[in-house]
This record gives sequence, C-alpha cells and structure tokens, in this order.
Amino acid sequence: MMTYDFIIAGAGLSGSVFARIMAEQGHHVLILERRSHIAGNAYDEKNEAGILIHKYGPHIFHTNNEEVYQFVNRFSKWTPFKLKCEVEMCGKSTPSPFNFKTIDQFYDPEKASLIKQSLRAAYPGQTVVTVVELLNSDNTLIREYAQMLFDNDYSLYTAKQWGISLSQIDISVLKRVPVRLDYESMYFTDKYECMPTCGYTEFVKNMTTHPNITVQTDTDALNMVTLNEDSLAFNGLNVSPKCHFVYTGPIDRLFNYKFGELPYRSLRFDFQTLPKDSFQNAPVVAYPQVNDYTRITEYKKLPVQEIPGKTTIAVEYPLPYNLKDGTEPYYPIPTETNSIIYQKYLFAAAKYSNLILCGRLAEYKYYNMDQAIASVLKTAQKYI
Ligand code: FAD
Repeated sequence: MMTYDFIIAGAGLSGSVFARIMAEQGHHVLILERRSHIAGNAYDEKNEAGILIHKYGPHIFHTNNEEVYQFVNRFSKWTPFKLKCEVEMCGKSTPSPFNFKTIDQFYDPEKASLIKQSLRAAYPGQTVVTVVELLNSDNTLIREYAQMLFDNDYSLYTAKQWGISLSQIDISVLKRVPVRLDYESMYFTDKYECMPTCGYTEFVKNMTTHPNITVQTDTDALNMVTLNEDSLAFNGLNVSPKCHFVYTGPIDRLFNYKFGELPYRSLRFDFQTLPKDSFQNAPVVAYPQVNDYTRITEYKKLPVQEIPGKTTIAVEYPLPYNLKDGTEPYYPIPTETNSIIYQKYLFAAAKYSNLILCGRLAEYKYYNMDQAIASVLKTAQKYI
C-alpha cells in the first residue's frame, strides 16, 4: 500500500502540475478529484458528432513564459493556432480586438482616416491601447471613437458578463480586451499560441501518468481531509508524517465559509449540433447587444476539425453563482470587499504548515492556464 507524501485536491492543471513535479522528486502523490474526470475546466471530449468540444468554455493556450512552454511540451504535441474572434455590433461583424478595420467599417472614409491618423499620432510605435486610455484622451476624435466602442460593446458586454454595474467592477476588467492600432486581427499576441494536438484531457492524462501518482475521481477531498484547530487530519488515508495537503478548490469552502462566501460569476453553455458545414466566420463571436448570451463558440474551428455536414456551437450565458443550485464558480469577482474576505481566509490558512494553496479557486484569481502553471512551478520549488 502506497504511503502518500502529498494529497492533492483537484485534478485540474494546477493540481496535476504540482503532482507531476513532486512525483518526479520521488514523492508519492494522491490526487482526489470531485468531478468524474480530470483536467478541471480545461476538460475536453469528443461529442456524439465526433467534434472535440470544451465542456467548460473555449480554451486556447498562449504564453510568453519559456519555462511554462517547455514544461507543457513534455506531455503533449502542440498545434500552432492563432485565434481570431469577431464582435457582432450594430449589424456588422468586426474583429475583436477592435482594430483599424473597425474604424473603416463604422465611419465614412474621410473621418476614418482622421481617426486613424489621430491614433497613430497619439500613440506612436504602439500597437495596442486600452479603451480606458482612449476614453481619457485629449483628442476629441479619439474620445468619440472610444465612446462608440464603450457604448456598443464594452459597457454592455461587461454589465452582462458580470451582472453588476460598471462602478462596482475593477477597471482591470475593461483593460482585458485591448483596442488595436493597426489592422492585425489576432486575438492574442503571445510568443506561443497553440492547442494540445490530442486535446487538454489527454495532455493532463499524460502529465498524471507516473508510477508515483494515483488519481481518484468522483471523490471530494474534503470528505477525507479535515481542518482541526491547528492541524490537518487525513481520514482513512495512508500518509507519511510530513504529508502535505495541496488544495486547488475554492478557499472559502475549505474553511466552511466561516468568513462568508466569496462571490463568483458562473456560466451556462447551451451546446447545439447543427446540420451545416459552418455556423459563423470565426471560432468565437461576441454578441454585446444581445440581452442574455455573451458569445458563441464554434468548436469545429478551434482548431479546424475536418468534419463535413455538421457543426457544434456553444452559446454562452453568464449567470449568478449560487452555492446551493449547483452552478460552477467560474470567474472570481475582483472587488475590494471580496479581496478583504479572501485575505481573512489566507491568514487562517497560514496556521497550517502543511497546507498549500494553489490554482484559480484557492488563490481567488483569474488565471490563464499559463499563469496557473507558472504559479504552481514557483510554489512547488519551495517543497523540492
Ligand atoms: P480548475 O481547472 O478549476 O481545477 C480545479 C479542480 O479542482 C476542478 O476539477 C475541481 O472539480 C476540483 N476540486 C475543487 N474542489 C475539490 C475538492 N474539494 N475535492 C476534489 N476536487 C476538487 N485560460 C487560458 O489560458 N486560455 C483560455 O482560452 C481560457 N479560457 C477560459 C474560458 C473560460 C470560460 C474560463 C472560465 C476559464 C478560461 N481559462 C483560460 C482559464 C483556465 O480555465 C484556468 O487557468 C485553469 O482552469 C486553472 O486550472 P486550475 O487547476 O487552477 O483550476
């Protein structure tokens, strides 16, 4: 019977990367996963039409981090893929991020030329700028353009996505999707942008396939690990005296919500397989002016899968997150109040010398996949 040095809650990217690093150091690792599958929110599977879909929303791997890129390459081949997105706004399809084509589409040629000239002059040598900067510009034409984007896209999309008024949202959210100052139409600009050739689930499976790693799905780790006053109890688990508990789930749940619930925004995906070759021009199209959904992903185009005569789309609806109705916690809501609650949990966690918190839920941070991996690589160094 294996004696475990690390018990990990969660077989998402964070838990799996941590497990692999420790396993390669000769430690025995048990991963407990609440869901019936590994790979966390990056989980993908082929549907009944044979199309690879992402159950929890479209995931595109992109990074400038060389160490992260080298690490992920050990467990999968990666297919280069440049994501292109569009926005359906005032009856026109325009690139996302907005670029000079947007200006050409929304203004007469003379005015469009003036706006582009003003932007080039105001931001020499720059290729991207945030809409917040444009809204605060001294130049009237630039402000007018920014206001048009803000009124027809940013404000509507943000309010719908987060379900709260703009005054409550952290300004960094508005800065997430920039405005381009050229005709470039790529969504991301990182050095590496790619998809695991066999899918994310296979990639995570390869990472967790190691003689020192055991994965147990359909198991809530908090039924087996409990927090006593100042120590952890591993109930019914064969653990070494120095066993660590790596927790990648929601931090408030770990402490039974004693400082209150940390709010999240949730999502619902309506998957539909349609009897047609193609549904939309781009793999992802945003619909800021539609009341209820935010975007539609066409999975066949992510990356291109050659399956004639049918296509699968997922219509994405933002929802309030509610612990009791089984919705998933997707996006942490970055407000000052929530940060104070989080700090209380963090302080309480510091009492347990063998408790390690990592991942987007335990750290209450919106991490891209590469950021989640980078954070684990750094944290794991302390235990090597
Ligand atoms: P998760 O993937 O959430 O994994 C945590 C795991 O822990 C889950 O499987 C959960 O079931 C399990 N768990 C929780 N509590 C327990 C418990 N008590 N016991 C056992 N198991 C437990 N990033 C990108 O880089 N590119 C993208 O294009 C991109 N698109 C995204 C789209 C959407 C809609 C969303 C929401 C996120 C997207 N991300 C993207 C971010 C990406 O999903 C995260 O960076 C990544 O999932 C982080 O992995 P994680 O392991 O920290 O968390």
